[in-house]
Amino acid sequence: MSTALRRLAPAGPEATLAARWAAGFRGPLRLEDGRALKVVFPGVPGGGAGPDFTGAILDAGGDLLRGDVEIHLLASGWRAHGHHVDPACAGVVLHAVGRNDGESIATPHGSGRSIPIVVLPSAVEGQPSFPPPFTPPCALEAARGRACREPLERLGLRRLRMKAAAALPLVRAAAPAQALYALTLEISGGPANRAPFASLARRLPLAALLERSAGSPFPRRTVMAAELRGAAAQLIVRRAGMRPMASPARRLESAASLFASWWPEGEVPGWPSSLPAGAAPPRPLPACVGRAVAIETWVNAVLPVALASGAWPERACESVLLTLPPPGTYGKLKPLAGWLGTANARPFPSAATLQGGLLLHADYCTKGQCGRCPLSG
Ligand code: SF4
Repeated sequence: MSTALRRLAPAGPEATLAARWAAGFRGPLRLEDGRALKVVFPGVPGGGAGPDFTGAILDAGGDLLRGDVEIHLLASGWRAHGHHVDPACAGVVLHAVGRNDGESIATPHGSGRSIPIVVLPSAVEGQPSFPPPFTPPCALEAARGRACREPLERLGLRRLRMKAAAALPLVRAAAPAQALYALTLEISGGPANRAPFASLARRLPLAALLERSAGSPFPRRTVMAAELRGAAAQLIVRRAGMRPMASPARRLESAASLFASWWPEGEVPGWPSSLPAGAAPPRPLPACVGRAVAIETWVNAVLPVALASGAWPERACESVLLTLPPPGTYGKLKPLAGWLGTANARPFPSAATLQGGLLLHADYCTKGQCGRCPLSG
């Protein structure tokens, strides 16, 4: 589609159609001439003048087609947009449309060639899916030996800045220390109890917790855990079906242990002196705090609040993220890990690359952006 005509076209729906094409279709498609169509690779988005996708590989009833794909809401868009005389469309091998509003089963090219038409299934049937039903460009790039570490790290650092931006209102409304306390509690809740644990920070603010825990003869973490449990008693938290290690009580114990290490007896409720710029999780870890929990806390609370509040310089926050190991794996990144990993190198060897993988998955892979993402080559 020419740039001028692009301006006249209903960009939204056609862009949606293009995104669905890019994401691939699980089931077989049927060409208007009756042949089954299998998309081996949907092509790389054209991005400007010329066909919408270039370099597609298609199986049309056993015939292998290699070339470009043009997308239109209506089949009549081909002629209306002047593609029949456009030399840039000479390599189009498939005309993918939302509706065939003509009588023809193929689109005639100016050269006399017939271009098969496929009517793409509705949005519900053809939602972008992940993993895509074709080998994505990132896998081909990885197989060619292209390293993915640097782009993933860049995306991971971008995700850190996004987390810091999200933490900023909390930092402004309270104080860095209270924001750190609140975010740590929220993360401690895990997916099941994130909201009630977040509300705990409002019910029992940091200053109140420190005041109530002061001067006790018992270990500070035990006293803090008891105070947090007491404040949480009125909250509706999910307990059913949880492993004992992931129960709300154990999670509160772990959070209390972190708080006791950050704000020992006598420490004021300000930014902890045990968290100077560039501090990684301590070794050994405080009692009841697992390695994965500590890394998740640094990635999701310590670093974002330190960055948002200016408690640490940006460079210190970034260098900690780059050197932290990954807390574990995420099931949703398994297909990506399979495509990007090699026999000698794991694709997510650090917290930064894992964070980059999560951003890639959310912003590109699940949005049909194969060919446009930073790992497409
Ligand atoms: S969007 Fe990029 S990283 Fe994700 S599957 Fe497609 S090519 Fe791979």
